[in-house]
Amino acid sequence: ADRLKGKRAVITAAAAGIGRACAIAFAREGATVIATDINEAGIAGLTKEGIAEVAKLDVRNTADVNAFAKRVGKIDILLNAAGFVHHGTILECSEEDFDFSFDLNVKSIHRTIKAFLPEMLAGGGGSIVNISSCAALRPPANRYVYSSSKAAVSLLTRAVALDFITKGIRCNSICPGTVETPSMLDRAAAQGPQGKEMFVSRQKMGRLGTADEIASMAVYLGSDESAFTTGVDLVVDGGYML
Ligand code: NAD
Repeated sequence: ADRLKGKRAVITAAAAGIGRACAIAFAREGATVIATDINEAGIAGLTKEGIAEVAKLDVRNTADVNAFAKRVGKIDILLNAAGFVHHGTILECSEEDFDFSFDLNVKSIHRTIKAFLPEMLAGGGGSIVNISSCAALRPPANRYVYSSSKAAVSLLTRAVALDFITKGIRCNSICPGTVETPSMLDRAAAQGPQGKEMFVSRQKMGRLGTADEIASMAVYLGSDESAFTTGVDLVVDGGYML
């Protein structure tokens, strides 16, 4: 239960789904967790789950991210979970939709890494974990801008990993398959009564993943157990990629 003992972690989008499960799992493994989200009500209850601090943070706001990083100072783990799934092909993707997805899914990670990295480097290193998606590796139907933006997350991850590989920084991404979370269930419901089954059918294991199954990989990547691992996409997908 002490796999992250002595480590300080910041998590974005911790109010729901994968980010929330990661925050709780990190705290359970002994980390001092600062859980953030744009939804203040959603993170309020997390202190009861052993999370040290909750803070409202909109990862689309550069000034807010910079001020937050300045206040928090040195951390050992940065986990970026914020993301949005746009439904549709290129024909349904307006210029606004495109910019929104790239801003929330990709540029938010640029913001948080840029803000936290100098202190991480000064402190001797750290582990950055980005939640990408299997859609980055093989696009499902109607995930045009989501897949494109997550592919950018995976390559952003490798570029950061390479540039700081001798400085104690590790940067990896997790590529989940379809995971049962509030927004995923909303997307399924929007597709009608067969929606959930359609999502399950993408998973060759025949079931959806749980947020805890993604959090297990995040704990591994945050911990020193993964000290030799950097710049990779770790796939946790119930066979989606098979
Ligand atoms: P979710 O979509 O249910 O919740 C997303 C959270 O992000 C919410 O708490 C929301 O308040 C927060 N958020 C939205 N905009 C924000 C902003 N500007 N600043 C800060 N927080 C903001 O969560 P999820 O389904 O677990 O998805 C989490 C991540 O995992 C996303 O990056 C998603 O793309 C990725 N992912 C999810 C699945 C899946 O099937 N659920 C699969 C692969 C990858």
